Amino acid sequence: MSSLLVHNIGELVTNGIGADPLGIRRKAAVLVEEDRVAWVGPAAYAPAADHRIDVGGAAVLPGFVDSHAHLVFAGDRAAEFAARMAGEPYTGGGIRTTVGATRAATDDELRATVRRLRGEALHQGTTTMEIKSGYGLSVADEARSLRIAAETSPETTFLGAHVVPAEYADRPDDYVGLVCGPMLAAAAPYAKWIDVFCERGAFDVDHARAILACGQAVGLGVRLHANQLGPGPGVQLGVELGAASVDHCTHLSDADVEALAGTAHSDGFGTRTVATLLPGAEFSTRSPYPDARRLLDAGVTVALATDCNPGSSYTSSMPFCIALAVREMRMTPAEAVWAATAGGARALRRDDIGVLTPGARADLIVLDAPSHLHLAYRPGVPLIRQVIRNGVPQ
Ligand SMILES: [Zn+2]
Repeated sequence: MSSLLVHNIGELVTNGIGADPLGIRRKAAVLVEEDRVAWVGPAAYAPAADHRIDVGGAAVLPGFVDSHAHLVFAGDRAAEFAARMAGEPYTGGGIRTTVGATRAATDDELRATVRRLRGEALHQGTTTMEIKSGYGLSVADEARSLRIAAETSPETTFLGAHVVPAEYADRPDDYVGLVCGPMLAAAAPYAKWIDVFCERGAFDVDHARAILACGQAVGLGVRLHANQLGPGPGVQLGVELGAASVDHCTHLSDADVEALAGTAHSDGFGTRTVATLLPGAEFSTRSPYPDARRLLDAGVTVALATDCNPGSSYTSSMPFCIALAVREMRMTPAEAVWAATAGGARALRRDDIGVLTPGARADLIVLDAPSHLHLAYRPGVPLIRQVIRNGVPQ
């Protein structure tokens, strides 16, 4: 068995149990055996290893867990972005533009885009990335989107209910029947999760409930896009169905926050349904940010993710989302870093990632900085010096 010692760490974020939420250790070392963390402790007591990386006093964190991304698409919507920045509102209607381009693309073109964006994210410290379908919206195109996504990530999500495609515009009930029937059957072998865009102009609560229940019946976990563009029933539907995560959460009522807080684990470790906040979307649509402080103060577990997609948030950068969360959403740097690592892992119901404790997957990032604080303190600066994924330096 080959071993690797990451040595001379000035600040190690473990997200393990400790005096602070990030479980920080100073002057530390991490021993990796194969793809797992085997030992964490003071650098002075570090065991011998086959290979050593001396990080020279830098900060080391768990790799980022981006639990919400739409990478399987074709085309570009830069002109739509420019129009929005010139004053046009975001309605979600541009999704159909991407659907047309995606259907026209070859498998290899879609695969190349997924790999390019996944590589871009990896270089920015993302070691786990969820990938959704949702720009195919036909049986064949949703199935191939997920087949291509599954080549790159085990965290794949069937989002056939992204919008109602143009050819079903006047008969949405028929489209819901297609999603729950042949489309789900074709997609499920490649999917771990099912998701619905539950929003005015997309799917109403009855359609969303029906689709998610069909997915649950074939063993898919539930997550959903909820309360992004306005208030609505999405968050409470997610709680009702035991969703792992409700995503966006920009427009919440007191009852929504209470419902999320009510999913608290009896062991005191946060909530069973995570609120995943996607500040890249608010940035790129020039919209008000979600109030992370309100959720955190109510005891709700918060995750941060990119929502990487060609329309409303074309960023693959978790450090950018951390900086936005701190500056615009009243999160502390520590809360934002936790939400981008351990929080994302909770949103995917994973306990082997987002932490650097013995037994965890050896997904580490080395910063070009002495502290995690620099991720928000130095926005826009490429601070990820090295990424180790599954125990392998990238
Ligand atoms: Zn999304």
